Amino acid sequence: MSKNYNIAVVPGDGIGNEIVPEGYRVLEAVAKKHNFSLSSKNFDWGAGYYLKNGEFLPKDGLETLKKFDAIYFGSVGLPAVDDTLPAKDYTFKVRANFSQYVNHRPVRTYPGVTRPLRSEKHIDFVIVRENVEGEFVQMGGQFLPDSADGMGIDTSVFTRKGIERVAHYAFKLARKRRNKVTHITKSNTLINSLSYWDRVITEVAEQYPDVAHDQMYIDNCTANFVLKPEIFDVVLTTNLFGDILSDLGGAIMGSLGLGGSGNINPEKEFPSMFEPIHGSAPDIAGNNIANPYGQIWSAAIMLEHLGEIEAANNIMDAIDKSTQQGVLTKDLGGNAGTKEVADAVIKNL
Ligand code: ATP
Ligand code: MG
Repeated sequence: MSKNYNIAVVPGDGIGNEIVPEGYRVLEAVAKKHNFSLSSKNFDWGAGYYLKNGEFLPKDGLETLKKFDAIYFGSVGLPAVDDTLPAKDYTFKVRANFSQYVNHRPVRTYPGVTRPLRSEKHIDFVIVRENVEGEFVQMGGQFLPDSADGMGIDTSVFTRKGIERVAHYAFKLARKRRNKVTHITKSNTLINSLSYWDRVITEVAEQYPDVAHDQMYIDNCTANFVLKPEIFDVVLTTNLFGDILSDLGGAIMGSLGLGGSGNINPEKEFPSMFEPIHGSAPDIAGNNIANPYGQIWSAAIMLEHLGEIEAANNIMDAIDKSTQQGVLTKDLGGNAGTKEVADAVIKNL
């Protein structure tokens, strides 16, 4: 009997409503070829939902999602909704409650895509971002904000457990790749939190003597992303640094629209969630011009997580063929629409 995967589909806002259905169409096509099936349910959660209901997802939303094998997600956010709402994050809630402590964000060159770097060297690395603690724990407050003595404080929290588990993921991933982990901190100035990070990572590294391990400061790392990105294999970093580095990673690929990602619970106690690295891009929504390659790549990362490796590789090969054939959206200098890209990928499967 062939396997069936039950997928929660959450397009979110803006271009999510255009690229998620296209990505899902690719998923259905690849499933047919590889002898497994998909069932799915759509959820209209996000900032648009918040404007109508006062919350980003319903009270029982997490319970509902928990029953699925995976979540295929677009992006949440609209200009009319305050970005700093502590409750905001649909994304934040799902990541934290489902212990999706790894954010897996690959960066690579696409054939036929012009990128901003002069170097023609092939780039292929994965940013492994700690996804639930660190700088994003939202602990702190604003004190007397309207007064001359006002202040704003955010605390970063790095726990041994949190550092160890993401480090193990990175080192195991490196074993499947080119056997190298570079960990990124700023422990020369954040001398408590990030030197603890350094210490714990170094301890974990000792358990993987076959994997090369080095360390780089975030400032130097951003320079190296631009000057010699080919030196990286697995880039292990904190929540905030990983957030910033992945936009830079998207940019050196040629567009933010190219990056796919997974919010992963490696133990599979909860469903993992797969989404492009960019936001909901309301500025270009509704015109069939959004680049869906990152969303489609996220589908491949999802299939890999579910154990459908051949199907995942099939999608990646089809993406490469499509960009090579010049099927490129406006952000890549082409004139293909969102739907045409998905059509091309499906044809190339
Ligand atoms: P978030 O806070 O959710 O990360 P953001 O404020 O960083 O969102 P994005 O929505 O990622 O912003 O958009 C940044 C820029 O990149 C916008 O100009 C947007 O149009 C462009 N962009 C993002 N995704 C795509 C895409 N898939 N195709 C084309 N352009 C995109
Ligand atoms: Mg962003």
